[in-house]
Amino acid sequence: MGETASAPERDFTRRELDAIRRDFPILARTGRGGRPIVYFDSSATSQKPECVIDAEAEFYRLHNGAVHRGTHLLGDEATAAYEDARATLADFIGGSPEEIVWTKNATEGINVVAYAIGNASEGRGGAEARRLRIGPGDRIVVSRAEHHANLVPWQELCARTGAELAWLDLTPDGRIDLDTLSAITPATRLVAVTHVSNVTGAITPVEPIVNAARDVGAMVLLDTCQSSAHLPVDVGALGVDFAVFSSHKMLGPTGAGALWGRRELLEAMPPVLTGGSMIADVTMERTEYMAPPERFEAGSQPVAQIAAWATALGYLGDLGMDRVAAHEETITRALLEGISSVPGVRVLGPAQAVDRVGVVSFTVDGVHPHDVGQVMDAEDVAVRVGHHCALPLHSFFGVRASARASAAPTTTLDEVERLVTALSHVRSYFGGM
Ligand code: PLP
Repeated sequence: MGETASAPERDFTRRELDAIRRDFPILARTGRGGRPIVYFDSSATSQKPECVIDAEAEFYRLHNGAVHRGTHLLGDEATAAYEDARATLADFIGGSPEEIVWTKNATEGINVVAYAIGNASEGRGGAEARRLRIGPGDRIVVSRAEHHANLVPWQELCARTGAELAWLDLTPDGRIDLDTLSAITPATRLVAVTHVSNVTGAITPVEPIVNAARDVGAMVLLDTCQSSAHLPVDVGALGVDFAVFSSHKMLGPTGAGALWGRRELLEAMPPVLTGGSMIADVTMERTEYMAPPERFEAGSQPVAQIAAWATALGYLGDLGMDRVAAHEETITRALLEGISSVPGVRVLGPAQAVDRVGVVSFTVDGVHPHDVGQVMDAEDVAVRVGHHCALPLHSFFGVRASARASAAPTTTLDEVERLVTALSHVRSYFGGM
């Protein structure tokens, strides 16, 4: 990056943006149409800067060894990389290292909490696990805007324990409707919501939800998959009990994720996956488990990916999450204006660039989203198509699928223009106006 900003919340200058873009080798790729690919699918998976690609390779080239085992140099270096990454993520999200559990993705992080509660409900775990037990008469609350990753595990937990699932409903433009907070009743034990919708881009009003949960003594889990690469996220300030993170959406490698949990809750949770690397003692009859976070890290971990994720977090930190958010606001405004100006296009979600990020899902009259995606790909504009793992939210909007454009810190206004131009060709391609 060239210039430094005088105000931290200022959008990137064009020069800065060009320098950032040069860090991402894939942005030089051309597509099927022969033009540079305009990548609008960062919500599905983000592209990686060169330093992250190098960090993963460098781990294998110079430091590869098994963590927490043995006394040789490479084992020590691998362990240091693994534990330093834990401290880096903790610092990035305002938590402490012993509260970070490595997982392979955010989905696994949510499942760890759900299965631990399920195991506690079956009488597993120590005396402290009793506080986590749920059963008939208890309630888990989600929202209608959840990714399947933050819905299906709770359906399964309810099926397993006899607890009931309830949900916060939505306003017509797809925001969580705070008039439905009454779903959080005194029977509620846990509220699990997304921080940002992966369909509408709407930012969840976390504070009133946390307050409503606190009033009835319920825990709160926050899914940050669509916020943590776009906004500053501070788990302490948010006041939640659990949060899940996904490396591959934060400029990091695939295969790594994390669960952050309040220490006393992690300590109360019985293990989920069991085996090596999570035990204090084992006899043929029984096993004593390690304290968190290791209790939840059975088996070999994606160490190279975790080490490179830390590099990605350093990169995002150097950009400045306030500036990333300011840049995204500019792009979101342009995306919303451009996409909604195309005849026959309907935006699913809030139409104004307020309390939302650069994730814009849309439908085109009379054209299936898969065809929309293909026509745009022919112009080298990459958008995601389908239900984006959020079928209940699509049903709410009365559609089965949509196309989705999602921005990154590298997105330019020129790219938005290319997207809007490609989109404006879609209907004529299929004989529409
Ligand atoms: N939650 C949301 C809101 C998402 O957008 C996604 C992925 O798209 C997930 C969860 C699942 O994330 P992961 O791939 O890390 O399991």
